Amino acid sequence: MKIGIAGAGIGGLAAAALLARDGHEVTVFDRFTAPRPVGSGLVVQPVGLAVLDEIEAGSAARALGQPLDAMFGDTASGRVVLSVAYGQEDDRKGLGIHRAALFHVIHAAALGAGAQLLPAHPVAERDGQHLRFEDGGRAGPFDLIVDAAGAGSVLSPLTARPLIYGAVWATVPWPEKTALPRRHLSQRYRRADRMLGVLPVGALPARPDRPMAAVFYSLKADGIAAWRAESFAAWRAGAIALWPEIAPFLHDRLGKSDFTFASYTHGSLKRPWSEGIAHIGDAAHRASPQLGQGANMALLDALALARALRQARGEEALRLYAGARRWHVAAYQAMSAAFTPQYQSDSTALPVLRDHVLAPVSRAWPVQGILTRLVCGDLVPPMPALSPREGRAFPPGTPPG
Ligand SMILES: Cc1cc2nc3c(=O)[nH]c(=O)nc-3n(C[C@H](O)[C@H](O)[C@H](O)COP(=O)(O)OP(=O)(O)OC[C@H]3O[C@@H](n4cnc5c(N)ncnc54)[C@H](O)[C@@H]3O)c2cc1C
Repeated sequence: MKIGIAGAGIGGLAAAALLARDGHEVTVFDRFTAPRPVGSGLVVQPVGLAVLDEIEAGSAARALGQPLDAMFGDTASGRVVLSVAYGQEDDRKGLGIHRAALFHVIHAAALGAGAQLLPAHPVAERDGQHLRFEDGGRAGPFDLIVDAAGAGSVLSPLTARPLIYGAVWATVPWPEKTALPRRHLSQRYRRADRMLGVLPVGALPARPDRPMAAVFYSLKADGIAAWRAESFAAWRAGAIALWPEIAPFLHDRLGKSDFTFASYTHGSLKRPWSEGIAHIGDAAHRASPQLGQGANMALLDALALARALRQARGEEALRLYAGARRWHVAAYQAMSAAFTPQYQSDSTALPVLRDHVLAPVSRAWPVQGILTRLVCGDLVPPMPALSPREGRAFPPGTPPG
């Protein structure tokens, strides 16, 4: 099939790698002028790592990223509010990774598989089976368009609900001396309205010898101007008062201009496809990063779409893709909606419930095991009914309809 993908992010490039390996003619269009990832770090969970392995990008990702044993959060008074351990086995660990490193390895896999990437092609709209760009040019016709243009996709009919809280993020070198464990995502809370975090993200491709960390601070979308107005020194002093261990991460050369604000939205498409187009990743469903699943969801969508296209054609393949992902997406969207206000909201009741009821329960058997599977991404089967062993059912040259 001739496939046009809008968006060379995590989902778009993974889909490009998978579909090109299956023999499809794949072109990816992105608005960026040169391949360049934005943002800081994220966690690739075991289900996402399995997809990276499938496109042969897993080893390169592990070489750059930082394996994680646990996610931990507490309050200044020492009350543990979040404590989720990954599994004992190596393939049940999370991987903290910088977006640049993740982009680097998936981009290489997509190009290696034979996909073509065309930067400086901002998609303006869909014109039948063509993609039309902002300069009026167009490409196609494509047998299938894949919308992987992320949270701001112009091709997706999804209207998502903005969340009150977002966060500012910065990437800093991992300090030589720190009390924070290198294999933990660590967070410090004050009720649910203040949160500081340190995520070890491993190395950037240009400096593979230098471990880095993503530092983040929870902030309301309408509070960003006030935060920018406050001096860095004053904010730093407040941050250290809440969490003394963060001091070595907020080094002297750092300033507020090093922090980027990320806002979050929540929502999902009832049907992530229509005739001739499939929506994947944030173009199909968006949630706060509280459960650390967004990149994994995009990777799983890409794999489900590729597997569906090995088993069926046309609408049937798109139905298979959507059906396979339905319950996993719905379950994680629901859990994200339920968990987020406990960690990022103005509520005074929810953090009390979190600290005095949910946190102690979460450390008891069997809840701990359930939470481990929740963060690993496979509490619900990610794509039932799509067999990994199913080969390509159609010899090259079979019409796509
Ligand atoms: C601060 C933050 C922290 C996060 N932490 C985690 C985490 O720990 N774990 C996790 O799994 N997820 C996390 N996420 C979520 C994760 O980043 C997203 O869910 C994931 O990137 C979605 O992948 P995607 O391919 O759908 O979109 P993206 O990766 O956003 O890619 C979209 C691409 O489309 C391109 N594009 C957009 N519009 C156009 C257009 N009109 N024409 C052409 N190209 C276009 C963009 O340039 C971009 O390259 C986090 C998100 C944020 C904001």
